[in-house]
Amino acid sequence: MRTPIIAGNWKLNKTISEAVALTTALKASVADVADVEIVVAPAFTALAAVNATIAGSNIRLSAQDVYSEDSGAFTGEVSAPMLKDVGCDYVIIGHSERRQYFGETNESVNQKVKAALAHDLKPIICVGEQLEERETGQTETVIDDHVTGGIAGLSDAELLSCVIAYEPVWAIGTGKTATPAQAQEVHSFIRGLLRKTHSAEVAVQLRIQYGGSVKPENASELMAQPDVDGALVGGASLEAESFAQIVKFV
Ligand code: PEP
Repeated sequence: MRTPIIAGNWKLNKTISEAVALTTALKASVADVADVEIVVAPAFTALAAVNATIAGSNIRLSAQDVYSEDSGAFTGEVSAPMLKDVGCDYVIIGHSERRQYFGETNESVNQKVKAALAHDLKPIICVGEQLEERETGQTETVIDDHVTGGIAGLSDAELLSCVIAYEPVWAIGTGKTATPAQAQEVHSFIRGLLRKTHSAEVAVQLRIQYGGSVKPENASELMAQPDVDGALVGGASLEAESFAQIVKFV
């Protein structure tokens, strides 16, 4: 019922030529995949070249961030109309690295989500607890805060254009993956929240990805969980072969 979505977050990696080489190899490896939505998120500088490379393929383009204003005196920022113009369908918003290093808050995430939706870009909204928060029993409080803050004020239809990525911060880039049961528990909790903030229909239809050290070796077990609808992949998306294997495990 929910089409799985596997997205590769390339972070601060790949020059334009490296990004084109990776995309060219990936395109060939996943050409026969029809039942999974495949998304890559290169750095801003490589978006145009990657967009040209994926033309006519089953790969969609995402940015890694967006600013909340459309234009103006905001040096260094990139807006939703600009991302749409360069060929993006998706944009990652509120990644834990942006929350941790660049002062992203639930309020700024919410503003960016609204800016993206206003220009027909689909937000991938990242939420997730830190290790200390998990260990002190605050996981559900933090997830509640991130989810309700990030989606505040959205209509059901707007929310259904979004994807939520549950990414426990302690599992990102650390090699530590949440167990399938831990992922399922939080994904199910998020659906419960969506039932309260929006509707049963939204809770059932909205796609929730898991992110945090997803690799070919652990992808199939995670994806087999009933409320896990795909993955947001960092490290393993930087090689065509490992990312394609994850796509094919779904
Ligand atoms: C991420 O950055 O979103 C991520 C999940 O990274 P990794 O797969 O490397 O843990």
